[in-house]
Amino acid sequence: MRLAARVIEATSEAVLIADHEFRVTAINPAFTTITGYDADDIVGKIPHLEDSRAGDDPLYAQMWRAIEDHDQWEGEFWNRRKNGEEYAVRASISSIKDEDGKIQRYAALINDITERKQTDERIRFQANYDSLTGLPNRSLFLDQLDQAFDRVKRTNKKIALMFVDLDRFKWINDTLGHDAGDDLLLQVADRMKNCVRRVDTVARLGGDEFTIIMQDVDEEKHTRLVAEKVIEALSEPFRLKDKEANIGASIGISIGPSDAENTTTLLCNADLAMYAAKKAGRNTYKFFTPDMNEEAQARLEMENDLRHAIDRDELLVYYQPIVDLKTGRVSAAEALIRWRHPKRGLVSPVEFIPLAEETGLIGPIGEFVLIASCVRIKAWHDAGHKDLTVSVNLSSRQLRQGLSTEVISEILDFTNVSAEHLAFEITESQMMEDIQGSIEWLNEIKGLGVRLSIDDFGTGYSSLSYLRKFPIDTLKIDKSFVHDMTFNADDASLVEAITAMARSLKLRVIAEGVETREQLDHLRALGCDLIQGYYFSKPLQPDEFERLLERDGEDWCERLAG
Ligand code: C2E
Ligand code: MG
Ligand code: MG
Repeated sequence: MRLAARVIEATSEAVLIADHEFRVTAINPAFTTITGYDADDIVGKIPHLEDSRAGDDPLYAQMWRAIEDHDQWEGEFWNRRKNGEEYAVRASISSIKDEDGKIQRYAALINDITERKQTDERIRFQANYDSLTGLPNRSLFLDQLDQAFDRVKRTNKKIALMFVDLDRFKWINDTLGHDAGDDLLLQVADRMKNCVRRVDTVARLGGDEFTIIMQDVDEEKHTRLVAEKVIEALSEPFRLKDKEANIGASIGISIGPSDAENTTTLLCNADLAMYAAKKAGRNTYKFFTPDMNEEAQARLEMENDLRHAIDRDELLVYYQPIVDLKTGRVSAAEALIRWRHPKRGLVSPVEFIPLAEETGLIGPIGEFVLIASCVRIKAWHDAGHKDLTVSVNLSSRQLRQGLSTEVISEILDFTNVSAEHLAFEITESQMMEDIQGSIEWLNEIKGLGVRLSIDDFGTGYSSLSYLRKFPIDTLKIDKSFVHDMTFNADDASLVEAITAMARSLKLRVIAEGVETREQLDHLRALGCDLIQGYYFSKPLQPDEFERLLERDGEDWCERLAG
């Protein structure tokens, strides 16, 4: 007995002995170390067993039931030390009975497991919450959505799921840096939390994608109100690094269970609605409607078809002549892609290039156009048209799809074409999406000796200060100005300004979309000497273009002369 007493004295586990009424009769030093209570505080009293985080009743009742049934209880709970500090314990309590089965004593063994609990909680937090904003992450969000959906099915109420996508986040991240980007996301999270009730969940799925689960919405009106509140909150300027930044949000909303039978479909529908909101312009929200599904279905089909278009030889490149007004000859051609779809016929690039850009297919498609064009350049040079250059449209997405200088020079090398006979066209707005990235990329390409043009000039920012930064040779005046210049004085003076500016920057000017004699004369008077448009020729198939080269000059010398 004495040995046992010595062991109990020395052990690091807290030990408490109580009588049959659970009145404390003895404790060991470890008990005092862990709980802060010494013998004077507690002997003779009934200890207060309360889970400081859950309230006492359930734990207490459960404990006594277990001791009555099995003479023993083991469990974990949070408690408070004498100094008020919270701590976690693992306790095991046994009853000690005499020969007649009457309870004599209770013995409790108590371990301090606060540290382990805290680690567990940290791990649980990391697994379920976004470390930057502290909002639920994708995994917790999906759990909560499942729970909310289950509840909704039982109660006949509705939930609203909102997909919130920030409109200009990438742009800010790229120009002001990642710290500013993080700061922005934090502020966005705060503003969004302020727009919803406590029962609703705001989560961050990653990047600039946020979601809101709204519980118990019975009216569309209420959802609308919250969507408007979020849009308004996010359209207020943000203060980042002493700068003011303006972003916007696009929101897609789907309502469960009326829009979807399960959470997967609900998510998918909210995403479709968000996509529709983005398309409709910034700072808008859209509720899911079934026709979005059909549209998405059609898109998906087209995407699938486009994936196989290269292998199935359905992509073609047409060439539209560019005429030099000084010599009256075809000095260049623009390569324009076409898709001969087995069911839809000839599909315009306006329809499928954006899709190719979104899906990443622009990578292989762009490479195909480049290779096809180089093969043609070589063939036409071999046929005697030594100075002909071909200009190929580039999408800035190809930068991210890995169209590197190595790939370009390999293509030039394999097809035996020198870089000076190749030109690239890129639109202003595409360059502005990632200014620094574009400048570096275009400088590298330019280093190969390839010419660079700005396409659709005048429709974007048209900023002179940026123009100087890009290593370009040529401006292509957008066809909308050419179209309007003969009857709209503003457009005419804009074209005039562009040609004058280009001359001072030593850039060549190509006017595209020239359809009439009148436009031609006007442009010539302004000193614009390269012309492309239906007035001379539509884009042609390679063999038609070749025939045109053979009789080059004949018909349009007359036309040019009038
Ligand atoms: P873009 O580069 O500005 O090409 C000029 C567009 O104007 C072509 O349309 C051409 O057929 C059309 N066009 C030419 N002359 C006239 C005219 O006198 N009047 C009118 N109204 N239109 C004229 P297309 O071939 O439908 O191409 C549309 C756009 O698709 C192109 O605009 C270009 O941005 C893009 N695109 C075409 N091929 C490719 C490609 O291989 N890669 C990439 N990334 N984009 C391409
Ligand atoms: Mg072009
Ligand atoms: Mg153009």
